[in-house]
Amino acid sequence: MEFKTDALVLRSADYGENDKIVTLLTAEKGKLAAAVKGVKKPTAKLNFAAQPFCFAEYVLAEKGARRTVTGASLHDGFFALREDIAAFYAATCVTQACDLILYEGMAGGELLVCAVQALGALSDGKGAGALVLFLLKALCLAGYPVRAGACPVCGATPSGRMKFDMEAGVFTCSDHSEGVPASESTYRAVRAAYAGEEGTDDGNLRALRLLGAYFSLKTDATLKALEGYLRLLHPLH
Ligand SMILES: [Zn+2]
Repeated sequence: MEFKTDALVLRSADYGENDKIVTLLTAEKGKLAAAVKGVKKPTAKLNFAAQPFCFAEYVLAEKGARRTVTGASLHDGFFALREDIAAFYAATCVTQACDLILYEGMAGGELLVCAVQALGALSDGKGAGALVLFLLKALCLAGYPVRAGACPVCGATPSGRMKFDMEAGVFTCSDHSEGVPASESTYRAVRAAYAGEEGTDDGNLRALRLLGAYFSLKTDATLKALEGYLRLLHPLH
């Protein structure tokens, strides 16, 4: 059986002498693995379809549990990501996050749209703010939304030193939850991302640290590329 689906390459690994196995985030069937045959030869027609960040319409042949890519037509390869090391790390955070939160059978359509938007923004030179927004959306789709509104205990807008409640995913006044300490700049960066605005560099950096910790706690998995990205943003720490 053969089917077509829009898909993004989350990972690509060598397989055998000449083949690769790609992990795809597909619109219709969530995450799945497929072989791309003969792509170690530099002239192979489907080379592009086995590259990380490739977003294309894939034609997949399914035989039992095995899938093979038999065709692909490129939507966007996000090639600018290969020329900027920070953007590359940020983009790798996007694909790693998708890979880690998608469980077998989970629908992938909305996450695919968010990931493609984020890779587009990172290719266009948008920095940490684009990654903050993507992680917020991805966490929400995974069932772990982050709320940065009024304190749920007293209804006031938190300011100054505050807390982030890791259980509930919500910012509170400093004495209204047992959360981890959070700064106002973190809170403001999260609000800015939701509002489609750019947070400050410091706020985005802090927000990424917090979202990375929250992601690890909720998914029991580490976004390894995020550590590398944060080191690039802030080499002294
Ligand atoms: Zn409060």
